[in-house]
Amino acid sequence: MDLPIIATLGSHSALQILKGAKDEGFRTLLLAERGRVKFYRSYQFIDDIQTIEHPRELLAKAEELVTRNVILIPHGSFVAYVGGEKNRDIHVPYFGNKAVLDWEEDRTKQAALLHAAGILTPRHFAADERISFPVIVKPHGARGGKGYVVARTPDELDRTRKRLQGEPYVVQEYIIGVPVYIHYFYSPIRERIEIFGFDRRYETNVDGLSRAVGGKIKGNTDPSFVVVGNFPMTIRESLLPEVEAAGEAIVTASRSLIDSRGLFGPFCLETIVSEDLKFYAIEISCRIVAGTNPYITGSPYSALLFEEPMSTGRRIAREIKEAIAQGRLSTVLS
Ligand code: AMP
Ligand code: AMP
Repeated sequence: MDLPIIATLGSHSALQILKGAKDEGFRTLLLAERGRVKFYRSYQFIDDIQTIEHPRELLAKAEELVTRNVILIPHGSFVAYVGGEKNRDIHVPYFGNKAVLDWEEDRTKQAALLHAAGILTPRHFAADERISFPVIVKPHGARGGKGYVVARTPDELDRTRKRLQGEPYVVQEYIIGVPVYIHYFYSPIRERIEIFGFDRRYETNVDGLSRAVGGKIKGNTDPSFVVVGNFPMTIRESLLPEVEAAGEAIVTASRSLIDSRGLFGPFCLETIVSEDLKFYAIEISCRIVAGTNPYITGSPYSALLFEEPMSTGRRIAREIKEAIAQGRLSTVLS
């Protein structure tokens, strides 16, 4: 059988995904918006680029992509710009379980999954509940921290609630600690969880406020959380067993809550670690996260599991290759 073509949208982690696919021997295809085509042409591991006007054009191209034997690899831009509902309508072989999309989009469902896995989460507040400590208000949908608001007092929270009327959001306790984003890969082919690495985000303006020279700079000091990039990191080795167990617990819980296939492939548990070393999970992303981009040539942790440079993007392609070799491709696709 001819190997399928690995394709994705030109953004987020596309370079990592297609480089990884090429390293595993696949042909690669990128669907890129007009203004980005020139940029992506610089990379020789991208065999073919198709120009699109908007990510949603993916749906109109489905028939052609199926004829070309394409497998799509979803990333953050799929839900952000195509929309969860429309992702379900993309009738092209798609890596991962589409049933997890509902859980990716809906923060209340995310909290239920984390709860079922026995993972600590910040306290959530009901619509009319008064707060006695700072909270963070998060509209639904993958937005890279855009639109989050911190409310320190009940009055501040009331104002935010009024402004968001009609829009779905959650109100979470604001955890003081450090952000640690955990990258996992669950392989249904090897039936094992793999810790792929860790990152922390670089967010504007919250990461800039600490540089605002001891309050001497006047202006708006309300924190915002718009992601600009990511730092690579490692964590204390003594915390790793707990991290591994959390990943396993999420996969197990997803099989009873979502469906029998549950969550597989790459996913990320986004945590804030408090001073008593508790991991508070603030969110879960059920797909590759851009925080894996610092590790296009592999991470310190993937180096422990593989004898070669292994990014998360390459790991996805390896899973597809192994599934094909065992005649089990449908196991990893939706
Ligand atoms: P983009 O295509 O860069 O606009 O990103 C698609 C979605 O993923 C948006 O919701 C972004 O906020 C999010 N995103 C992009 N890059 C990162 C990153 N480095 N870390 C976390 N989220 C990101
Ligand atoms: P998220 O989009 O949920 O990954 O959150 C984006 C950023 O918002 C995180 O990197 C944190 O800086 C901040 N954040 C989100 N939720 C909380 C929380 N409950 N407590 C403290 N900071 C948070």
